[in-house]
Amino acid sequence: MKVVVLLGAPGSGKGTIAGRLVAADAALRHVSSGDLLRDAVRRRTAAGAEADVFMKRGELVPDALVARMMEEFMGGAGGAGTLLLDGYPRTVAQARMLDEAAGRTGAVLEAVVLFEAADEVLVARIAGRRHCPACGAGYHVPNIPPKKRAGYCDGCGVELAVRKDDAPETVLNRLAVYRAQTAPLAEFYRVRGLLRTVNAVGPIDEIAERVRRVLA
Ligand code: AMP
Repeated sequence: MKVVVLLGAPGSGKGTIAGRLVAADAALRHVSSGDLLRDAVRRRTAAGAEADVFMKRGELVPDALVARMMEEFMGGAGGAGTLLLDGYPRTVAQARMLDEAAGRTGAVLEAVVLFEAADEVLVARIAGRRHCPACGAGYHVPNIPPKKRAGYCDGCGVELAVRKDDAPETVLNRLAVYRAQTAPLAEFYRVRGLLRTVNAVGPIDEIAERVRRVLA
């Protein structure tokens, strides 16, 4: 299996662009560490209960917990194709754990795509973010509105919600955590020749195309 890491601040569009790429290429799969963690919280697993405390505050959950979850997913994901990792690794310690997991599973880290956007863009994007509590589909006001009825999921008709950690107080903390703990990963991967930088501002299809180009 090949692995591509999507690196970027909250709101930089990693999940949205990953969705576009996966929809257009059957060889690609996508996993978001945040989605796995939110799922664990919903299912009330022991890991979910531990993670919830940190997630509510906009802080990172402990490295070992996320690493274990991601390695389990990678182990079950099968050999073929390319897996897009969205939101993992987020610390240098996690990047080292990913290297070790890749060594054990035979996965090859092909590239790291850094999504670049100014803080004003990130804050504005997060403010508009909505999701369907039933199926998890993502929306954005005004960038990705529902097609059928404003405020309701196209697929299930359920009213859209705002993620708890998208509240303005928490968002500023998440951006600070990104700068302090995750941004150093750019240098970590640059020196290994793996880093590809993409301008993450513009129409979604254009950004997706920029990512395809740097991965080609
Ligand atoms: P996200 O959906 O990627 O914005 O992640 C939401 C929250 O989940 C983050 O604010 C963290 O609390 C937690 N989280 C997700 N991925 C990681 C990670 N790789 N390491 C630590 N915490 C994470």
